Amino acid sequence: MNVNAEVTSPVTTIRNAAATAKINVTRLRGNISVLEGSGGNIAVLTGPDGKVLVDAGIPTSRLRLTEALAGLGNDPVKHLINSHWHFDHTDGNEWLHSIGAAITAHTNTKKHLATTTRVDDWNFTFPPAPSGALPTTVFDDEQTLVVNGTRLVLRYYGQAHTDSDIWIDFTDADIIHVADTLWNGQYPFIDYSTGGSVDGLIRAAQANVARATHNTIVIGGHGSIGNKSQLIEFRDMLVTIREKVSALKKQGKSRDEVVDAKPTADYDAKWGGLIIDGDFFTRLVYAGV
Ligand SMILES: [Zn+2]
Repeated sequence: MNVNAEVTSPVTTIRNAAATAKINVTRLRGNISVLEGSGGNIAVLTGPDGKVLVDAGIPTSRLRLTEALAGLGNDPVKHLINSHWHFDHTDGNEWLHSIGAAITAHTNTKKHLATTTRVDDWNFTFPPAPSGALPTTVFDDEQTLVVNGTRLVLRYYGQAHTDSDIWIDFTDADIIHVADTLWNGQYPFIDYSTGGSVDGLIRAAQANVARATHNTIVIGGHGSIGNKSQLIEFRDMLVTIREKVSALKKQGKSRDEVVDAKPTADYDAKWGGLIIDGDFFTRLVYAGV
């Protein structure tokens, strides 16, 4: 890989954007809020046991994240949960750990952070993270935490957007952080390099729909705060595009021919406006059908 390739990677773009991004704070329900603007959406649970964060943002936003967290109360950050291994959810691990946060994640999050990991579709190779950035507690299937009088159920999706995705269910408040198994109003990235697949992502999207009630507040990894009907819309988009791309591939069409056939055309205006456009998403789906 040459230097220019690294410069043009979306990883570099997203890291740089976080340096100047405004952090939007939204209080959701009870003592749970969400911070938007530094990498993936960050959920925050406050209380006397210390703050619990779901995802770590990007340390170029550290000053503004620190301000936003202080605005939610004086209790220190004591716990961090990584929804999956991707940089825009874990780059802040080291500094949050340095100020006192224990880090909980799926086993595969620690595995990928601890080693050199290449993501071809981002044109980027991640070096091993420093030891202070690694999760301090890992689990394989399910883990329940009770913090600040609130029960959090962490559950592994199986292979979905990556092979390390978990949901974080604040059961009492009926709020769920679904990692990158929902990009609300955006085509999602699917990371085949670390065990993701379109069919796994559809299974996760279906599990989210089954979990949600019409009262549930849904925090996706990316996009605005969502609800059950948006989970359904996202799942239906995935299923429809998967079927269209699969049918074209079965006709013997190459990846470029399928992209040229524009199987996402009906969806691009709503879903293709940000990081992943219709052509990129078509290539991601083609790889998995
Ligand atoms: Zn991700």
